[in-house]
Amino acid sequence: MPAALLDYCRTHQDWLIHLIETLVTIESPTDDKAAVDRCGDELDRQLRAIGMRTTRVPAVGAGDHLLAEIGDAGPRVLLLGHFDTVWPVGQLARMPLERRDGRLHGPGVFDMKTGIGLGMLAVRALGATGTLRGRVAMLWTTDEETGSGTSRALVEREAKASDAVLVLEPALPGGAVKTRRKGCGQFEVVTHGIAAHAGIDPGKGVSAIAELARQILAIEALADLPNGVSVNVGVIAGGSRPNVVAEEARALVDVRAPTMAQAEAVVAAMRALVPRTPGARVDVTGGFERPPLERTAGVARLYDEARSVAAALGVTLDEGGTGGGSDGNFCAALGVPTLDGLGAVGDGAHALHEHVELASLPLRAALLAGLIGRVTEERPGGR
Ligand SMILES: [Zn+2]
Repeated sequence: MPAALLDYCRTHQDWLIHLIETLVTIESPTDDKAAVDRCGDELDRQLRAIGMRTTRVPAVGAGDHLLAEIGDAGPRVLLLGHFDTVWPVGQLARMPLERRDGRLHGPGVFDMKTGIGLGMLAVRALGATGTLRGRVAMLWTTDEETGSGTSRALVEREAKASDAVLVLEPALPGGAVKTRRKGCGQFEVVTHGIAAHAGIDPGKGVSAIAELARQILAIEALADLPNGVSVNVGVIAGGSRPNVVAEEARALVDVRAPTMAQAEAVVAAMRALVPRTPGARVDVTGGFERPPLERTAGVARLYDEARSVAAALGVTLDEGGTGGGSDGNFCAALGVPTLDGLGAVGDGAHALHEHVELASLPLRAALLAGLIGRVTEERPGGR
């Protein structure tokens, strides 16, 4: 069966490339709702053209999200991804859409418009080979690149209604899927001191900057790189003039942690920060925006299925982890079996050399189709 799917995907790879090019040509930066909605209009048309029922989910301050479904009963699989990109409108002039040396280049091609195309070709392949069973849903969101503020609840609702979630974010280098993603936390630390004239009354002041410097050393000590916990004080600001003892200072901190337990430990330590200078105050806000995607039994089972489909297609499918988060993190944290990184093989997410490998497209689509087939198979006793 996988062979028939691969045949179909090979025969229809021009359709896929054309679809990807169409989506890339309609630039869709997260913060430009009109632009993202234009891309959504086209995607909506293309989804209906392959026989899917679509629902537009309006969003305020972001493009409308798109939900597409096919099938009425049986096990349900959710294909998940986003069509917003990090590139502003006009980026195509700097990063032209072009096929060169077996690669397709362009803004958003790797992260992750090709993934959307792969999902659509997979559904077509299943339909054409008579193996489209159960229910296949697709959720394409519009604000993943800025933290999924308007889509998180929708992602979680659709994940909970599904037996498995396949995330079509880019693959790891070489094509490996992602069975682990770190959770992502962001904190703001504000220190308050007492302003005073630095020349006349230096003893009356309490420096918020000196306090922040001490806090930063304490915060950096929370990192545990050998065990995957990273802490980065990425932004600092504070004070007003050289001759004033600073009244206020602030820092923005990025934290990554592989497990929920490690994330919770960092949150507790951040909340427990105490002033280190007499007379100073420290306020901490923030937390983990995306929980970790941990390699649970459900994740491992899904990976095993994917590996066995790949083997039937004559290839080896590796797994790996990443420090970057995706919407897959939300799904896995709900306990829904989730496999991430099933999208394009290529390189250069968020970089000028962003591209996908054209030769990998039919195989990736067939792999996905085969995996959808496995997940939507009726099994005695359920999954
Ligand atoms: Zn992405």
